[in-house]
Amino acid sequence: MELFNVYPLNDITPVRALGAQLWDENGQQYLDFYGGHAVISIGHSHPRYVQRITEQVQKIGFYSNSVHIPIQRELAQKLGDVSGYPDYTLFLCNSGAEANENALKLASFHTGKNHVIAFKGAFHGRTSGAVAATDNAKIVAPFNANHSISFLPYDLAEVERVLQEKPTCAVIIEPIQGVGGIIMPSDEFLQGLDELCRAHGVVLIADEVQSGYGRSGKFFAHQHAGIRPGVISVAKGMGNGFPIGGILISPEFQASYGLLGTTFGGNHLACAAALAVLEVIEQEALIEHAHQMGDYLRTALLANAGAQEIRGRGLMIGVKYDFPIKDIRDQLLMEHHIFVGNASDPTVLRLLPPLSIKQEEVDQFLQALYTITKDSLVEK
Ligand code: PMP
Repeated sequence: MELFNVYPLNDITPVRALGAQLWDENGQQYLDFYGGHAVISIGHSHPRYVQRITEQVQKIGFYSNSVHIPIQRELAQKLGDVSGYPDYTLFLCNSGAEANENALKLASFHTGKNHVIAFKGAFHGRTSGAVAATDNAKIVAPFNANHSISFLPYDLAEVERVLQEKPTCAVIIEPIQGVGGIIMPSDEFLQGLDELCRAHGVVLIADEVQSGYGRSGKFFAHQHAGIRPGVISVAKGMGNGFPIGGILISPEFQASYGLLGTTFGGNHLACAAALAVLEVIEQEALIEHAHQMGDYLRTALLANAGAQEIRGRGLMIGVKYDFPIKDIRDQLLMEHHIFVGNASDPTVLRLLPPLSIKQEEVDQFLQALYTITKDSLVEK
């Protein structure tokens, strides 16, 4: 059988990884400034992570949710403490799309309504509800199971108008848009949105799949604005590569048993991986580190990258040029052996290194980028 090839962007086969370094089958080393798409939070193959998963699989790797799985409660407790949401409940699933799918389902269930407000350029995943709320022509399928959607600009008057006109269950927002190209709604906008949702009894869903788990320099990116969304979606950095996702649900929207469910969600192994991530984030103070490295990186980029704009927070950074970044990206990878990300905006380079990235690795990236952009700016 041929393999369905999802998106072969790079002709490279990594076979080993450690920290922010990858090696291919020929022994060539690469610097990971993409984090496997914001997934690698604590660094590749962290010893604590390897140990936790190994010890768990030696005891029990999986049994269905029909039995007690104490490690789920341990994870919920730890996540509540580390994230600042001890009063929320955690539903565990397997991916970002599944998290958002369940968040939308919960919002419809609680409000009895099915209109959703999402934002221009949003990316929420590829399952039917999540893809319906995604504003990306490349992946949106011409079907929509349950929800009708409005894609709005970051404009509170527009949001209020739709809230008054349509029977809305949820407003879903990435506190920092990732795939869209590191686009940030202002803190004031997020605060206004939170207020509007409360006033209209609508569930505010913060999609923190990419921006969460310390990436923005706080545990969640919406915490920069001081808001408390009704539901928070997580995945990616939560498992550092082990497939796991979840939603954190505020006390007023607690789900009833049976509404949400999944076979694999919250399995022993995934919980062990996710616990190791939280332990390392705490022990190595990775959120503070991401904040510091992010400031260091953004300051250097502002001074020297020849870019039009530097966007983002912490280690979620967009470098916007006034030309497509494809050549820069290709040269970084093929000549300097550094992975970076692109975005749906072809002029934006997306930087999502592991939160544990070292300053000398940041310097290595900066040096490579300067070399390339100096040449391409001279050519222009
Ligand atoms: N939400 C956001 C903000 C994302 O960036 C992504 C993945 N790029 C998803 C949801 C979907 O996550 P997954 O691929 O794990 O389904």
